Amino acid sequence: MGTLPHLLLFDIDGTLINTQGAGMRAFTSAFEQLYPEQVAACGGVPGIDFSGSTDSGIVMGMFAELGIDDSNSQRERFYAVYLSFLRRNLGEPGITGSLLGGVAGLLGHLAEDVGGTAVLPGLLTGNIAAGARIKTDYYGISGHFRFGSYGDDHHDRNQLGPVAVNRASDLLGRDLSSAPVTVIGDTAKDICCARAFGARVVAVASGSISARELAGHDPDVLLENLDDVPGVLALLGVD
Ligand SMILES: [Mg+2]
Repeated sequence: MGTLPHLLLFDIDGTLINTQGAGMRAFTSAFEQLYPEQVAACGGVPGIDFSGSTDSGIVMGMFAELGIDDSNSQRERFYAVYLSFLRRNLGEPGITGSLLGGVAGLLGHLAEDVGGTAVLPGLLTGNIAAGARIKTDYYGISGHFRFGSYGDDHHDRNQLGPVAVNRASDLLGRDLSSAPVTVIGDTAKDICCARAFGARVVAVASGSISARELAGHDPDVLLENLDDVPGVLALLGVD
């Protein structure tokens, strides 16, 4: 049997990277391009709470607001336009998003341990899989994640944890349902989603939510950022 690996499930936006709003603008542009009449009738694209939300949850809510029939074909059409805006926005001159502090060092260290599968880094994100791939490719970190669960697996983030664990089990060809799991994320929704499947959670105040607000949701560990790589590794049990 051997020891089960520790699954580290990373959120993307506000935790690993800051895209300077490239994703949010891509959403807004896609709604404006595809549904100009409905958007005009609402006086503009209605406000969207992006933090910690899944892309499919955002689309579902927006279709309801704009009075658009929700169907797989409508979603596919929306995602295709969204992804093209996302690619364009990331490459825009003057828009210089970046990896967040400590992320490069942290992922570099975790990669060294993956061979022995003591730890297995993956993604647990509200981004649809194709969007997650575009973002992590753009910032050069996609190779660090061999599995994940995404915003097109379910619109409710609280359902994504077990999906990630199943994908990790498939990847290693062994049952990881009782493996230790830590979720690393920057919003209250990341904390709730970890609790929903009994995972430990490290909250990081490197996104749009303050440490003070995150503290109110009682994460196991609360950090301002991931800058102190040796300290973070120790907290994750990977020192
Ligand atoms: Mg986030």
